Amino acid sequence: MTAQIIDGKAIAQKTCDELKTKISSLQDGAPSLAVILVGDDEASQIYVRNKKKKATEVGIDCHVIELSASIGESALLSTIDELNDNPHINGIIVQLPLPKHLDEQKIIAHISPDKDVDGFTPYNSGLLSYNNPSAFVSATPKGVLELLKSTGIDLVGKHAVVIGRSHIVGRPVAKLLLNADCTVTITHSHTVNLPEITQTADIIVSACGQPKMIKSSWLKEGVVILDVGITRVDGHLCGDVDFDDVKEKASFITPVPGGVGPMTIAMLLVNTYEAFLRAQAKGETSHCCHHKNCHCH
Ligand code: NDP
Repeated sequence: MTAQIIDGKAIAQKTCDELKTKISSLQDGAPSLAVILVGDDEASQIYVRNKKKKATEVGIDCHVIELSASIGESALLSTIDELNDNPHINGIIVQLPLPKHLDEQKIIAHISPDKDVDGFTPYNSGLLSYNNPSAFVSATPKGVLELLKSTGIDLVGKHAVVIGRSHIVGRPVAKLLLNADCTVTITHSHTVNLPEITQTADIIVSACGQPKMIKSSWLKEGVVILDVGITRVDGHLCGDVDFDDVKEKASFITPVPGGVGPMTIAMLLVNTYEAFLRAQAKGETSHCCHHKNCHCH
């Protein structure tokens, strides 16, 4: 068997093209996204630049709010308060990681759940646990599920093994798979005999950041592999899966790069559009930012 490649880049582009069409046909305003960037971490600056570029391409108004690395907690919380109250803003994200002196959980929890398009607040995480369809689901896990669905395989009753238990990838992926009626095993760095567990998997979602860790001897014939991991090795991006070693054993596999990665921004933009529609339905959105120097009109 030679694995079929799940082309995340193409699926993400299709998603963005469809979104662009929907946004351009809106009668009343356009979605807007606020991205808070604290400090000058180089990788974060690149991620934020890419988000703004893609958002602009589909017609989402993206405001990047750059704050000093030394900003205090109360000043950052006040910035979030202003954005929470601003009817012009539909989605708010805080680019992670934050500088060490800031309590990430406290800062994220301050975002209004209605504008939490990263789905990181305890409220949206809780809705996902309840399998409540109104949850904003984190972009990367949501992208993973979209890619799985694109294979056409029936997820019901499948044994899905998730490698990694972080709040931004592993845990929400596991909840989504459970909500899709998979039988889910969550593994992590203390898991004993991981290869024995993965040998029983119909689906593997790996998000542990250990380059080329997963070998063909770890796999059952025909497994579907979603590789979330991204590690830079000798200047190249590398997934958690040893792609060349496993490609004859898996039935479907995502490449790195070009698999899960491109889906992340696309799903963030889908969530922002959804937040806009919900605000519009409640009559809460506005073309004007109401700032004293407003040039919105
Ligand atoms: P974290 O470091 O927060 O979490 C890593 C998880 O992997 C932890 O739960 C850890 O276990 C587990 N782990 C580490 N080593 C092993 C091992 N040898 N065997 C089993 N489990 C292990 O990372 P993130 O969740 O933020 O990201 C994971 C990977 O995904 C990274 O490579 C990251 O770059 C990538 N990523 C890609 C995205 C994309 O858009 N494609 C988006 C986000 C992340 P423990 O809890 O015990 O420490």
